[in-house]
Amino acid sequence: MIVTRFAPSPTGYIHIGNVRSAIYPYLLAHGSHGKMILRIEDTDRARYVEGATELIEDTLKWLGLDWDEGPIVGGPSAPYFQSERQAIYHEWARRLIVEGRAYADPTPPEQIEEYRRQCNEQHIPFRYRDYRPENPPEWQPGLPLRLLTIPKEYSWHDEVMGDMHTGPEVLDDIILIKKDGFPTYNFAHIVDDAAMGVTHVMRGVEYLSSTPNYLALYEAFGLERPKLISLPHILAPQGNKKLGKRDGAKSVTEYRDDGVLPEAMLNYLACLGWNDGTEQEIYTKDELIHSFSVDRIQSSGARYDETKLYWYNGQWIRRIFTEQGVDALYERTTGFWPEVAENYDEEYRKKVLSIIYDRLKTLSDLRSMTEFFFMDPTINLDVIVKNKFLKKLSESEIENLLKITIQKLSSIEDWNSTRLQDVLNDLLTETGKKPAELFGLIRISVSFAPFSPALHLTLDVLGKERTLARLNAVARSI
Ligand code: GLU
Repeated sequence: MIVTRFAPSPTGYIHIGNVRSAIYPYLLAHGSHGKMILRIEDTDRARYVEGATELIEDTLKWLGLDWDEGPIVGGPSAPYFQSERQAIYHEWARRLIVEGRAYADPTPPEQIEEYRRQCNEQHIPFRYRDYRPENPPEWQPGLPLRLLTIPKEYSWHDEVMGDMHTGPEVLDDIILIKKDGFPTYNFAHIVDDAAMGVTHVMRGVEYLSSTPNYLALYEAFGLERPKLISLPHILAPQGNKKLGKRDGAKSVTEYRDDGVLPEAMLNYLACLGWNDGTEQEIYTKDELIHSFSVDRIQSSGARYDETKLYWYNGQWIRRIFTEQGVDALYERTTGFWPEVAENYDEEYRKKVLSIIYDRLKTLSDLRSMTEFFFMDPTINLDVIVKNKFLKKLSESEIENLLKITIQKLSSIEDWNSTRLQDVLNDLLTETGKKPAELFGLIRISVSFAPFSPALHLTLDVLGKERTLARLNAVARSI
């Protein structure tokens, strides 16, 4: 059975550049009836951020990436917080000591710094093992524990990066347990992956250069190597560097709060650096699970493109509306309406949503785009006078057009979009004006908004009374 894991460190929010390390293990596990473990790597107490674990859990849940073992759900390898697994690491460490593969490091940090400085001066790489003490003391609290490396060559296969080979020079006596008693990432993840039965280790490519040391550890423990899968970086929009918090990489939850749908986020990120060889762009989670395969992950970095994410979001908004109906989309819009919408019932808000959904990039667009449906706009004649189509018309022409429109619309008894479309077209013929002029004038008069849905739909939703009241108000103020 395939067992994958997502092993974040609770050092802050999950940003857009690192959540893919959760998506791919999820897809791989679920595509083969395997399981995904969530493990919280919280041994670096200096970088620990209060509340970060909850944020990670919320992000995964929102994206629909539930874990089969881990915090909250538990599992046979509990605990899933590394900070609670101290005894396990110490027990594994003792096994290495007994076999002569780990030793206590008595060198004061200042001395190590001095060695490093000397190496720098001579332009040679610093390796602790070149200064390894001949008779190390017994390991005790307060002393770091190091791996005793056997210098040799390593070859391995990375499922994304291909065949790799390194010489003995890259190996060093890495620290396994720090002097505070906590394990290093290097040691803890090897122990945990083995103890938890992880078969496929998927993580960022930044760990590739340390892999020979991990191979040395697998060997020292007599463990079978798991499959190693390095995920290339997601690149910042500009330049050639990894997308990070410093480049303004937003958190996943920020996008959620802006009205990005989880389906769109999952779809976009899964397809960032992976494809199934077809032209398909829109995938449901189930389709992703079904289509995903490690061998189609690109080995080069993929560039993050927010515009594309919004494109996916627009596609998903439309898809939910057309496939699941207005009620399903409406349910997602809670909290995204302008405040004034509260005075209106759901029925009316759903009507507004039905005519505007296909223009939304995020659900929060509802705030600015729909306000005029819920409150009379402030009349600003400048908007009419300066409009590129309307500025050619004289004041009396505008007055006249409004008068004819009001008359014609007043006479409609069955106020609905089809009837409105006919009447508006008749008005075009009658006045001899271009749509940009006549419809532009009506649109501005009822909305004073930079954008509105098709005119007949907008008027239909606004209703006869409100439409005429707004047109009259403008006519009066000219
Ligand atoms: N805790 C490591 C990180 O957040 C995880 C690396 C791994 O997946 O092994 O980068």
